[in-house]
Amino acid sequence: MNPHLTGFACTQCSETLTVEQAVYTCPRCGGNLDARYDYAGIARDIDPAALIANPDRSVWRYAPLLPLPCPAPPQDTPEAADLRSHPLTTFGASPLYRATRIERALDIRTVWLKDDSRLPSSSFKDRASAMVIARALRAGVQTICAASTGNAASSLATLCAGTGIQTVIFVPRNTPEGKLAQILIHGARVYAVEGSYDDAFDLALQAAREFDWYNRNTGINPYTREGKKTAAFEICEQLGRFGQSGPFRAPDVLVAPVGDGNIISGLHKGFKDLLSVGWIDHMPRFIGVTAALAPALYRAWQSGGESITAAPASTIASGISADLPRDGVMALRAVRQTGGVFVEATDEEMLDSMGILAREAAVFVEPACAAAYVGLVKARQAGVIRPDDEVVLQLTGSGLKDARSALQASAGRLIHIRAHIEDVRRNFGF
Ligand SMILES: *Cc1c(COP(=O)(O)O)cnc(C)c1O
Ligand SMILES: [Zn+2]
Repeated sequence: MNPHLTGFACTQCSETLTVEQAVYTCPRCGGNLDARYDYAGIARDIDPAALIANPDRSVWRYAPLLPLPCPAPPQDTPEAADLRSHPLTTFGASPLYRATRIERALDIRTVWLKDDSRLPSSSFKDRASAMVIARALRAGVQTICAASTGNAASSLATLCAGTGIQTVIFVPRNTPEGKLAQILIHGARVYAVEGSYDDAFDLALQAAREFDWYNRNTGINPYTREGKKTAAFEICEQLGRFGQSGPFRAPDVLVAPVGDGNIISGLHKGFKDLLSVGWIDHMPRFIGVTAALAPALYRAWQSGGESITAAPASTIASGISADLPRDGVMALRAVRQTGGVFVEATDEEMLDSMGILAREAAVFVEPACAAAYVGLVKARQAGVIRPDDEVVLQLTGSGLKDARSALQASAGRLIHIRAHIEDVRRNFGF
């Protein structure tokens, strides 16, 4: 356990809980919980330059700012050996690419792409799963369950493989094949629930209670946000290499796709942590991008308050298809507290953006992730992003997970010919 972790606090009623008491949501009001740290103690005890000099490039090198250390036990047992160079204990440092062609096209000084499609299960969700599994291993949990639109589950199934933990997954019927294939091949028990992600979510809650499984559901498990914030640490560390300001440096703007709101909330927490210990000197403005066909959170944003009313989601972007965003309040705060905005992306715009990112920036992402690019373009057009800004676009999931959408995005480009050079000549227009 991190000695600087002081406990958890409710994001709604401010009730405080000890680390042992904090399992899921607030026992008093049902609000989501948030981990609290002694930032003055961390600032005093931890040297950021030494932290980043650690040859371990995994997310676990940020242990001083995480609730739990790397789950690889130091003992010399077969179980310890299983974990020591497992994806769970070694992943991190996803690439940060500079997208110069996009900078020129949109007239923005600097655009970076933080490519989390390169994590073990090819999505951002690995950051959250890792922290939940670390806690499960410490508690001796045998079974973890999760409801998911696909990536949380494929991530959990991937990172639990070979750890001895069984995974039970609840997905909606319309989950893309690539994600299902990942979940199944890694050995999870998969329930395809008749209904939406939200039906699967509630069933997983009930099953966890009934059968005493540990539940990774987004929003209700306070460890997912703590894992997700490692992306912010990596971004600032990677940007720190291109500046004189110190080991860590924050961008001006952060753009992220939003479904349940846990990714943007985790990124927000990560930047706030770094600001609280004095390792960065400002917060980026957050631009949250929701699907136009999953309107609940955008409506709450427009209303100006924090109450979120469920609204049926029908977008093709499975990763951000939530009727009732389970970490929506924290997503609203991430955007409002940093002076950012929410932007909506239509399905058609996401498909177009998949093609643009693939052709101009050499990254192949799924529709939910491409929403971030839609947000970048619209925020630039609205003047929310200015020409001299340094922007980081958070990429969240691989296009291979949803090949059907990729084929749809490139519809009509396949040219059928016979195996004759004449066909090529004629088609090319020689
Ligand atoms: C889960 C997911 C998101 C959105 O994350 P939330 O925490 O639900 O807001 C975005 N993109 C992809 C690819 C995802 O899997
Ligand atoms: Zn509460």
